Formats: sequence, C-alpha cells, structure tokens
Amino acid sequence: MGQGKTFSFTFLRDQFSTATSCMLLITNANILAPDQIIKNGAVCIDGNIISEIGSSTALEKKYPKARRLDAQGGLCMPGLANCHMHFYSTFARGMNLGGVPPKNFKEILKRLWWRLDKALTKEDVYYSAMVPLIECVRSGTTCVIDHHASPLCVLGSLNTIKGALSKIPVRASLCYEVSDRDGAEIARQGIEENAQFIKGHGGSHMLQGLFGLHASFTLSDRTLKRCAAVVHDFKTSIHVHTAEGVADADHCRQNHSCGVVERWRQFNLLGPRAILAHCIHIDHKEMQIIKYAGLKKAQRLHKIKKDETVVVLITGTGLKDIPTAMKAITIPAAVEVKIKR
Ligand SMILES: [Zn+2]
Repeated sequence: MGQGKTFSFTFLRDQFSTATSCMLLITNANILAPDQIIKNGAVCIDGNIISEIGSSTALEKKYPKARRLDAQGGLCMPGLANCHMHFYSTFARGMNLGGVPPKNFKEILKRLWWRLDKALTKEDVYYSAMVPLIECVRSGTTCVIDHHASPLCVLGSLNTIKGALSKIPVRASLCYEVSDRDGAEIARQGIEENAQFIKGHGGSHMLQGLFGLHASFTLSDRTLKRCAAVVHDFKTSIHVHTAEGVADADHCRQNHSCGVVERWRQFNLLGPRAILAHCIHIDHKEMQIIKYAGLKKAQRLHKIKKDETVVVLITGTGLKDIPTAMKAITIPAAVEVKIKR
C-alpha cells in the first residue's frame, strides 16, 4: 500500500457519519483507519476535526465545494506516537566511541550517554530536538514523549526544547530525568525543572510535562521522596527507565529488597499515564503490580477510564516472552520490539 507518500492525521471523532461540513477533502488515498482499510478513499477535514472518511467517489460528490488535496494513491493513516524518546540522542548517530565496544548497560551509560549529556549546551539541546522533529514530520509521527538530560544546563532546558517545538509543532510531552549521579545540586535542579515545566503546561493539548526520573539505581530514597512529593502535588505522572538493564533490577533487590516496579509503588508513583520505559527485567509479580496498582489508584484518585492508566513501554530483546507480559499486564501497552539482526 502507498507509493512513497504518507499523510498523517489524528482521529478526533469516533463516529465519522456525523459530518456536517467539509473544508478540506483529501482524496485518492489508501486510508488505514483504526478499524478498516479504504482503498481510493477520502478524508474530510472540518477545521481541526476529521469529520468523515469514505470512498473518494462518494465524498467528492457529497462535498463538491471543498478544497481538494490529491494524495495520489499515498497512504493516509493516524499519526504515529513515539512513547520514549531522547532528542539529545541525535548526537550519538554514527558516533565512534573508540576502543572496545561497551559490553553492558552500565558501560553504555558511562562511555556514551553520560559523557554526551554532560557536553550539551542549551544551543545543542535546541538543535538536537530540531533534527528529529523534522524527521517526525517527514515520517508521520505526530506525538513524541521525550525524556531529557543535560546535567550541566538543567534549568530552562525543557523550555529550550519547547522553542524547537514552536517551529515544528509536533504534539509532545517533555520531562527532565532526575538522578543523583551528578550530586545533590543537579538532582535538585532536575526536580525544579520538572516542577516549573509541569506547572506552566497543564492545559495545553499540544504540549505537556511529565515528571522525569532516570532509573532506580541512580535515585536515592531521599531524592525519590522529594520527587514523589512534586508528582503528587501536581497530580502528574512519571516517565522513568524501569529495569532496562539487569544491573538496575539487581541493584534494586540488593539495596531496597524489592523489584524496581515495587519500589515505584512504595513511593506511590504508579499513577495514571505513568510511563515505565523498557521493563525488560521485571518479573510476573511486578507485571501484576502494574496492572492492579495502576488501575486502582488511577480510578480511585482521578476517576479516569481504564484505557488512560499506566502505559508500559516494552523495548529491547531482553524480555523473552512478550506475549506473556502483554497478557499479564492486559492494559494498553506501547510495544516497540527491536529486531535482532
Ligand atoms: Zn531511554
């Protein structure tokens, strides 16, 4: 399907048959809708609402005065969402670290990511976001949930990314990853950066903040307690690496006598819309905690629907049995499986 062209849109109505007007008609498209595929289809857009989809012939006849955009047989589909992004990773593309390649999770962090993020200036942060945002638009990604780190320029970094988003308006959620790895002052700044950004972007449908945490093994109980206070004050959610490497899971069991997900629960952090990135080394009990703790807390505190609760991003090849994990968690999960080559 498709001939090299992709049109992306967001479905804003469940029922397309209620259309009353059409300002723009995208015709001659192969439409990939949530529940159907329409060949030679058309999409009616009324303001910023997708009001109707159907066959090109029928809708051209129905809306003869609408402005037309000929998709020329291209694929027209809902926008893609990237649920765990690091804009600053733009600078790691094609990077040669020299020497023996890193062997494990901690070596990758120390030799690549933690060297890279400490080198970032605000100008770097801005351009590191611009490049992937351009690629988002080109590839049909309309929503990005970013997880940012720049320990030597923490304060104002999320607003710098916002500056890039103002030029390329992709829907986004931003956070700063709090960590104790660079000392108490930088951890404090990370908490402040999250708080300030969340406070300033509560009502926007295009840009919001989450509370970012790096990972269990770089967060002390003291810092986590401070983070949890902000999360609860703002009734927001966390975006955190969870048991991405076995070292994170082992560290948690050795130092806190529990799994990483259990630790988040102890600090009351499994709130609605929490994003637990990776979850490669979680066990069945932790899957159940995500399922039940997330659901119950979300429904009780925020009275929100089942499908708005904890999102788990499972990525990488470490989790052996993804179908079992999906079945155990049984809540909407964003899954990105890297394919072994
Ligand atoms: Zn990550």
